[in-house]
Amino acid sequence: MVRYVCRHCHRQIGQFEGAWSDPQLGLQDLTAAEQQEILEVRPPDTTVWVKTLCERCLPVPWMEELWYN
Ligand SMILES: [Zn+2]
Repeated sequence: MVRYVCRHCHRQIGQFEGAWSDPQLGLQDLTAAEQQEILEVRPPDTTVWVKTLCERCLPVPWMEELWYN
């Protein structure tokens, strides 16, 4: 399970029933440093939180493919 949360207002943006490494999410294409910055695993489950920005907090489109998952 992957959940997207806004790093600014903490609103949950969306979720994806699958692995964070699913190629359609594009998260694997990030550099290791970027992954460390935006991905967070919260035990005990294996949900990966993706810290991003929602459309209200977003000044410019950035990593557009993430918004609609
Ligand atoms: Zn926000």
